[in-house]
Amino acid sequence: MNLFAVRLKALGSENAFKIVENIQECLSLGIDVIRLNIGEPDFDTPAHIARVGVEQMQKGNTHYCHPAGILPLREAVAEQLSQTRGITVDPEQVVVTIGAKPTISYAMIAYVNEGDEVIYPSPGFPIYESWVSFFGAKAVPLHLEEKRDFRFTADDLEKLITPKTKMIFINSPSNPTGSVLTAGDLEGIAEVIRRKCSPAVRIYSDEIYEHVLFDGLKHKSIASYPGMQERTLICSGHSKTYAMTGWRLGFAALPTKVEAEVFKNLNINIVSCVPPFIQEAGREAYESPSSEASIRTMVTKFQERRDYAVPALNAIPGITCAMPQGAFYLFPNIEGACRNIGMLEVMDKLPGDIRAKTFPSKLFQMFLLYRYGVATMDRKSFGQVGADGKHFIRLSIASSIESIKEGIHRISMAAQDRAGFATFIDEAKHLY
Ligand code: PLP
Repeated sequence: MNLFAVRLKALGSENAFKIVENIQECLSLGIDVIRLNIGEPDFDTPAHIARVGVEQMQKGNTHYCHPAGILPLREAVAEQLSQTRGITVDPEQVVVTIGAKPTISYAMIAYVNEGDEVIYPSPGFPIYESWVSFFGAKAVPLHLEEKRDFRFTADDLEKLITPKTKMIFINSPSNPTGSVLTAGDLEGIAEVIRRKCSPAVRIYSDEIYEHVLFDGLKHKSIASYPGMQERTLICSGHSKTYAMTGWRLGFAALPTKVEAEVFKNLNINIVSCVPPFIQEAGREAYESPSSEASIRTMVTKFQERRDYAVPALNAIPGITCAMPQGAFYLFPNIEGACRNIGMLEVMDKLPGDIRAKTFPSKLFQMFLLYRYGVATMDRKSFGQVGADGKHFIRLSIASSIESIKEGIHRISMAAQDRAGFATFIDEAKHLY
């Protein structure tokens, strides 16, 4: 008898959490690590928001509460969505969750049967692919191309839609590429969905980076286009906008109240409810006039760092980097650098068992970390299906400008260090 259920084998993970162990190991080896792997703002939660959470706890607001979320927060979310998306959202359509992440598995549980097809961006947030494989659905990655700034078109999507398509994940602004779909892109995508998909197909619109936009861009949601609100789950939350990752607060706005009841029941089955004092802090984040300035300060910093980092990366031989328009990530193409340091030849010579566990962007990630003390994320941390032969890493700019400068300086040295890379491979440690 096996200890674990068979289905567990299909569950993926998020390497952003796993790499923390590698970093700890580096620190214990005395390597000073520049962390460009981080997927959360390097800012504290604004004081006016944190204060409400503390006060609420002290007042004793520490009991179970409504499983769909406290009404004042659902009202605030519904109001914000209605105003910014030009649609009408009822608080009864909103379900508050422990961070935005659970809404991914909730959607899969609610809508997708084994054998159904699920389209998701690749590179994309790894948890989409993880749950798709766990539920025995067919993973249909929508590959985002650097030459098109990692945006996709209605045509790209149309080619992937079949009668078996049940759910489509969209994420704009995107993790890990920082790409932002334009109004024109979304209009075309909405038209294809209306034309090709049954009304029972659901669009999961991951809008968690909705406020982290550069160059004066305004957020656009697929739900705003005709006929789309009734098919779209708008999922977002407080983690990135208000630097509240550790509070664990997110939500889904469902197409109908009946679907919201299903999500509420999933909350009841899994977490009962989200702590009420956290929700009160979340309500304050939405309602306080101080929040806008906090967001602006943070986004201005991200943009300054992006404006430094992208040209600096493009100046490195063998690296090209598209200009992101949102989120706080850069997604440079490292293929030339891999070639320059002899990595692509080395791959063919690695023993079969090691070759099965590693790939060029992983080797580059590990070389950077263990030899140059820079933590990044490899390409396959953002979707594995069909990702062979794609050589990218993700860098986070949620780090001080000094760290970013030093990190890019080290990357530039690593990208030219053929001899150092040969020794790294000969030592055969940390190759995956
Ligand atoms: N969706 C995307 C695209 C993300 O990048 C993240 C977090 O990194 C999440 C969802 C999950 O956010 P939360 O921390 O609120 O669960």
